[in-house]
Amino acid sequence: MFNKNDKLTVLAIGAHGDDIELACGGSLAKAVKKGHDVVMVVVTGVDSHDHKNVPIRENGNAEKEAKAAAKILGVTKLIILGYEDTLVPYSADLITKLDDIMIKHEPDIVFTHFVFDTHQDHIRTAHSTISAARRQNTILLYEPINPSGQGYIAFRPQVYVDISKTIDQKINSLKAHKSQYIKYTEKWVEGVTARAKFRGFEMGVDYAECFEVVRSELRL
Ligand SMILES: [Zn+2]
Repeated sequence: MFNKNDKLTVLAIGAHGDDIELACGGSLAKAVKKGHDVVMVVVTGVDSHDHKNVPIRENGNAEKEAKAAAKILGVTKLIILGYEDTLVPYSADLITKLDDIMIKHEPDIVFTHFVFDTHQDHIRTAHSTISAARRQNTILLYEPINPSGQGYIAFRPQVYVDISKTIDQKINSLKAHKSQYIKYTEKWVEGVTARAKFRGFEMGVDYAECFEVVRSELRL
């Protein structure tokens, strides 16, 4: 993966603004630095409320924050599908939209949510992505990290990416989601950094992100 001689197209699909940054922002920033094409797709991306109907993002901030975060990662292709928060469907409608994105960009690597998540938007985004990516050779599920996911079955870290040189971009992209940063405070950033440090320790580097494999091409 990320072979020096190949220019790859990397497609990351997340339900909400900040999911992708949390789970694979360091890997995407690294891919951009190495000259690969990176595309981010946010399935919702419009303003939302929490379960007590308190606004989480309002006045168009969801889109503004997603754009600012993508820019920090160096990603210029950000697609916001605009489904309503909490109501992401597992439907032909969404799968067709993702199909069109697969046909247009022909991604070599597809990242999406862990299928055994507890948030309905994450589960349906993962299932829709797996359906739409049926012709792609490499599909990797990113590690659930709150609030980008909380699994009810153990995640199996199978593929690791050294993000030591892009951890700062990852953290800054999280802070660009100001509404989330205000809600979750610095403890959120500390938790994400600690997870990356822990995964880095497992592979012998400073910081890492890891993924579970649905399907993977081995390039020889
Ligand atoms: Zn989410």
